[in-house]
Amino acid sequence: MSDHFQIAIDGPVAAGKGTVSRLVAERLGFLYVDTGAMYRVTAYLALQNSIDLDDEAKLVELIKDSSIEMRNPNDDERDGRQTTVLLNGEDVSWKIRTEAVGSGASKVAMLKKVREELVKKQQQIAAKTNVVMEGRDITYRVLPDADVKIYLTAGEVVRAKRRHLQLQTRGSDVGFDEVYKELLLRDEQDMGRTHDPLKIVDGAWVVDTSDLSIDQVVNLIVAKVKVMQQNVHKH
Ligand code: C5P
Repeated sequence: MSDHFQIAIDGPVAAGKGTVSRLVAERLGFLYVDTGAMYRVTAYLALQNSIDLDDEAKLVELIKDSSIEMRNPNDDERDGRQTTVLLNGEDVSWKIRTEAVGSGASKVAMLKKVREELVKKQQQIAAKTNVVMEGRDITYRVLPDADVKIYLTAGEVVRAKRRHLQLQTRGSDVGFDEVYKELLLRDEQDMGRTHDPLKIVDGAWVVDTSDLSIDQVVNLIVAKVKVMQQNVHKH
């Protein structure tokens, strides 16, 4: 068991994991770790270096040769981002948010050795500090002993609408149908893959955010964690 408090959140595309996790982390003073960003960085590296998205050996080499740093945004980085991602010192926080990189991330995430490399990095981060870590395999692979395990989800159409709006806000003119199709495809890939697919683990707290505001979801989680922290102190 870790000495630190760990909140593990898994869930499908656009369930609100990023926004909710960042706000929960802020309220509790924990570090927010977006593990999807690491798969996105890997895909970005592959695209930049013209490496096939299924070339496992080359991708692992690339990851090992690169420094991936993640931290809460500082004061002059408050441009709507949830987290700051530095790849070899370069700020790629926005460059990894395109649909092309997202779809590439889902492909490189199928590779066992790529996953092993990134999981190691994620566990090293969580060994140092209290975290809210979100992704697809956090509740059972990355942090199997997490104090709180949450499966955050929402209906498919709700999620597609949220993602569409998010992309529009960023100036993308991609249509709703395309976003919806891409979301279904990514869900299928993430839940159907052989290595560490997205799933609901025993004992996970399933939170359906379809009819809840962000604040409501954040309040729910923070309240639960506070009760748990009090109980820990009592024993
Ligand atoms: O969460 P986000 O959409 O940024 O993640 C991008 C992709 O990275 C996901 O579609 C998924 O395939 C992969 N991923 C993963 N395991 C994680 C986090 C993300 O396989 N822990």
